[in-house]
Amino acid sequence: MTQKTDKEWRDRLTPEQFHVLREHGTERAGTSPLNYEKRTGTFYCAACKEALFSSDTKFDSGTGWPSFFTTIPGHVGTKSDYKILVRRTEYHCIRCGGHQGHVFDDGPPPTGQRWCNNGVALKFVTGKVS
Ligand SMILES: [Zn+2]
Repeated sequence: MTQKTDKEWRDRLTPEQFHVLREHGTERAGTSPLNYEKRTGTFYCAACKEALFSSDTKFDSGTGWPSFFTTIPGHVGTKSDYKILVRRTEYHCIRCGGHQGHVFDDGPPPTGQRWCNNGVALKFVTGKVS
């Protein structure tokens, strides 16, 4: 995990990004342009550029936050060790530990999971899916 001080993160991130990624904040619903992103590509951690989600796992949840039914395997960690996901499990970028969102069990097939992500914590790059 990349270890940085709060000051180093503040220098790299916008205040909004810092609040979500480093202070477990939540952006206001419907504020992220990534809600409407439908192109093919990859969603990266805004802090450290780790690839977290592929566009082919994104779905329109209607919640106002970018949502995915699964992650890129091994790139996202959850806060607890529960084998079965509980109703509100925090998840974060495995590389820098930055908070991304919460995962719920009311998503679509094939996983039934809804990874509800703060758009400000992601950076989208079009192109081939990682
Ligand atoms: Zn990261």
